[in-house]
Amino acid sequence: MPLTDRVAARRRADLVAALRAKGIADERVLAAVGSVPRHLFIPDSSLLTQAYDDVALPIGLGQTISQPFTVARMTELLAVREGDRVLEVGTGSGYQAAVLAALGARVFSVERHAPILSRTDQTLGRLGIRVRTRTGDGTRGWPAYAPFDAIVVTAGGPAVPPDLVAQLRDPAPPRPDARLVIPVGPPDHQVLHRITRVGPDETRDETFDGVVFVPLVSGEG
Ligand code: SAH
Repeated sequence: MPLTDRVAARRRADLVAALRAKGIADERVLAAVGSVPRHLFIPDSSLLTQAYDDVALPIGLGQTISQPFTVARMTELLAVREGDRVLEVGTGSGYQAAVLAALGARVFSVERHAPILSRTDQTLGRLGIRVRTRTGDGTRGWPAYAPFDAIVVTAGGPAVPPDLVAQLRDPAPPRPDARLVIPVGPPDHQVLHRITRVGPDETRDETFDGVVFVPLVSGEG
């Protein structure tokens, strides 16, 4: 059954309330989640009734659209400001990219699965959401558009890819320092890390929530 705009808007408002109750405090992030039609990022129409539940859902090729709480939490940790250059690794459905764009970020996103990306490009295009995307191994970053104010990795791996840390811009007060939010750990359980570039050769590493992401696959896999 198709979801009407009115019903979708109501479900979205309920989702925002649920995220607030679960501890998301940044009102800009909540407003962004409240503005992005998540149901349009879910390719399997039989799952549409769950589009505004706080759950991850399959998007094909064994990949998932992340749980809204995780998207909101990572976006909150990224502290994105209007005009920030943000790199996302793992475009997937495009939902996280759309939330970043709703915050006024200039979003660059890399996805390793070409068939997933071609559908996502269409979805983003139809919605008029501007995200620059490419197919490839995002653990290498996107040197042509580096450095970035913020980088978010939406797949889980055992270690922090050094190329991503290298593509964070140097400190430039009064702007907040550049930061990378990434789930790190084994396949069944990762921890969110926020790595902040506090000096030309210096980073600070903070840890946050436990999460479970699909694997970050680098190089040949
Ligand atoms: N941000 C997405 C989450 C998708 S799941 C969303 O909002 O829907 C993670 C995605 O990361 C998958 O599509 C997977 O194919 C992709 N991925 C895994 N390893 C990658 C890599 N090294 N480079 C780019 N994309 C990768």
